[in-house]
Amino acid sequence: MYDVIVAGAGVIGGMLARELTRYRLSVCLLERENDVACGATKANSGIVHGGYDPEPGTLKAKMNADGVEKLFATAAELHVPASRCGSMVVAFSAEEDKTVKALFARGQANGIGGLSVLSGDEARALEPALSPAVTSALLVPNAGVVCPYQLTIAAVGNAMDNGAELKLNFEIVAVTREADGFTVTAADGQTVRGRYLVNCAGGHADAVAAMAGDGFFTLIPRAGEYMLLDRAEGERVRHTVFQVPTKEGKGVLVTPTADGNLLVGPTATRVESAESTETTPAGLETVARLAAKSVPTVNFRQVITSFSGVRASVAGGDFIIEPSKKVSGLLHVAAIDSPGLTSCVSIAEYAVTLLRGMGLATEKDPAFNGERADTHAFRRMNDAERDAFIKEHPDYGKIVCRCETVTEGEIRDALRRNPPAADIDGVKRRTRAGMGRCQGGFCMPYVMRLISEEKQIAMTDVTKNGGGSKQLKGRI
Ligand SMILES: Cc1cc2nc3c(=O)[nH]c(=O)nc-3n(C[C@H](O)[C@H](O)[C@H](O)COP(=O)(O)OP(=O)(O)OC[C@H]3O[C@@H](n4cnc5c(N)ncnc54)[C@H](O)[C@@H]3O)c2cc1C
Repeated sequence: MYDVIVAGAGVIGGMLARELTRYRLSVCLLERENDVACGATKANSGIVHGGYDPEPGTLKAKMNADGVEKLFATAAELHVPASRCGSMVVAFSAEEDKTVKALFARGQANGIGGLSVLSGDEARALEPALSPAVTSALLVPNAGVVCPYQLTIAAVGNAMDNGAELKLNFEIVAVTREADGFTVTAADGQTVRGRYLVNCAGGHADAVAAMAGDGFFTLIPRAGEYMLLDRAEGERVRHTVFQVPTKEGKGVLVTPTADGNLLVGPTATRVESAESTETTPAGLETVARLAAKSVPTVNFRQVITSFSGVRASVAGGDFIIEPSKKVSGLLHVAAIDSPGLTSCVSIAEYAVTLLRGMGLATEKDPAFNGERADTHAFRRMNDAERDAFIKEHPDYGKIVCRCETVTEGEIRDALRRNPPAADIDGVKRRTRAGMGRCQGGFCMPYVMRLISEEKQIAMTDVTKNGGGSKQLKGRI
């Protein structure tokens, strides 16, 4: 019987599990995929939003305003790539100039400091690649970028190092409320029991709420398509460049990523379900056209991949973070669309406050250690550091991924360290092996051999992302 079961290991469930391990509590994190961060958390813009966009008084506005500094501090504690590059919202007409001023006022109402409205020329002086057609811009210095999946991997790893348990491939199909807590049942029949249940199931949070007997909301899935460009384009802009938001969302942005690539997107299209993550010619064409409107010199020949993520929104538009009114011990942390990544630390803290109000005893655990040791990323070391490190760890002298300069030592670490990578995509998210120009064309067989060795499984049993995604049929 765990004290708390957290359903869903995206950035919200992962950060909440970590937050709960600050206390003397037994925590179990359930995830249906073969790894953490496989939902909306792996496919979004990765922006730490400044907080000018949400309507004042909403949970989104509060969590965003409170979340920015907490996110940067947590990313530093967990050694996750993040950078405070600042953002701009650019206007192209007198009408949009008015929206920029309205966003400035909304930012003030949300308590966001440091905002200013720039003329088109002032904006171009800071960001020379901006279009000559830009008429004004909101400058947001507190904003930045973070790697969302590395943040989640690190948060879950830190939670596990502090005692939390992670159960992967645990697809919740039934939830039963009993006198002393919940029994949560997986598709394969496994069960887990806990006194409190927190629903962080992202695009399926409405289904999990319904299983628990409180399905009072329906999520509206909206996809966002992106193109990721090679690091050769990574310095095309220094700030995240947004266009003025529409009722569909924050519009198409052009941004450096925390890992030094350039990202353009997203669209906002109503789709069937949280699984509708395909990219489309029409979507990518829209992204390219709108990105070029802000930054005409983006070189689309440098696109290395495209992807799509699905937002889990509700009709009212705000986050749903509240104890169930029908089922005692159940807490909903649902409809966490943008700015959910920015707000994740604040949401986790708020969820713990609500659980306390629901009766959870929270006694601090003096053994909690919020620091997570840095990975030894070879590409970030200088030559002297590399020489010294290879002497002690010869596996770091073998380059596996040539595009991203990832070594065998880093991959073996990723396969051993909490939460251990279990497949090719898991290695990719942890080390960047396969993230570069060739998208794994050269390194994938080598990565597969390392997975096979470390997990002591046959090469034919190595998967791309769990389930039936095996890559090899047999030896020829
Ligand atoms: C296109 C797009 C752009 C965005 N851009 C930004 C941005 O720039 N900045 C920002 O702050 N936010 C942004 N967001 C929002 C941000 O990505 C989300 O708020 C955040 O990732 C939500 O995390 P989550 O943990 O709630 O959901 P998810 O990451 O979806 O995690 C939910 C987890 O629950 C698991 N799960 C579901 N059902 C079950 C089940 N039955 N049993 C077990 N496990 C289950 C899923 O597999 C998944 O891993 C964006 C979102 C999208 C889609």
